[in-house]
Amino acid sequence: MRIKDKKRFIIACGGLAAILIAIIVVFTVRLYHSGNNAQVADKTASAKTTTTQEATTENNSPTTTAETGNDAGDKISSTSTDSITALVNKNHSISASYVPNDLVTLDLPSTRDTQLRSDAAEALVKLFNAASSAGLDLYCCSGYRSYETQSELYDWNVSTYGAEQADLVSARPGMSEHQLGLAMDVTSASVGFDLLESFGTTAEGQFLKNNAYKYGFIIRYPQDKTNITGYAYEPWHIRYLGVDVATDIYNSGKTMEEYYGVN
Ligand SMILES: [Zn+2]
Repeated sequence: MRIKDKKRFIIACGGLAAILIAIIVVFTVRLYHSGNNAQVADKTASAKTTTTQEATTENNSPTTTAETGNDAGDKISSTSTDSITALVNKNHSISASYVPNDLVTLDLPSTRDTQLRSDAAEALVKLFNAASSAGLDLYCCSGYRSYETQSELYDWNVSTYGAEQADLVSARPGMSEHQLGLAMDVTSASVGFDLLESFGTTAEGQFLKNNAYKYGFIIRYPQDKTNITGYAYEPWHIRYLGVDVATDIYNSGKTMEEYYGVN
């Protein structure tokens, strides 16, 4: 090969190598980018999965749906003890250690110092104010009760009235709405500040029955519903559920169990 041809050959080889290197570089860069995109896509997908899981959990956590027939079915009460619609009864108990974290002492006429969760307390003030405007004086009797207090109360009822009657008028520990901090026993001077069935026929009892829902409360153990609630008529025991649910239940004429279709 002549020197001139050799030079040409080297230049051609160099050019070819440069082109090859360029192709390799471009290819590598593309490959790298598509890898990153795939990773991003993966992350997006997993983020979406997480969101979906959360949504599912959110949809599922306030569960306890229709366990039994009834016509309610679509209404869902919460299984979270902290929810204002948490259902507590003889078939749905709560942990002995549960204590609401937003209890406040009520600044209302009371037969003793008592507490409720803050939203329920605020609503109760409005309810009592409405009663006052109607010329009626309501008194708080018993709001939040700890598991231990409920235990003592139940034991006292058993030793005083016997187990069968005690179960009709008081909840076993862990099965009381009072432990939720969402129930209040209301009384008045007209019944000697006691908790009596006759409270239901007093002006105060009637006011409570007809107006409590406007402030988010229901009469939890109505007359003639003992076969459903498991408790004797308690015209004094109101349960906070928020205005929407309380109004719905009031208009339906159902108990909380019937409304949610659970036992
Ligand atoms: Zn009560």
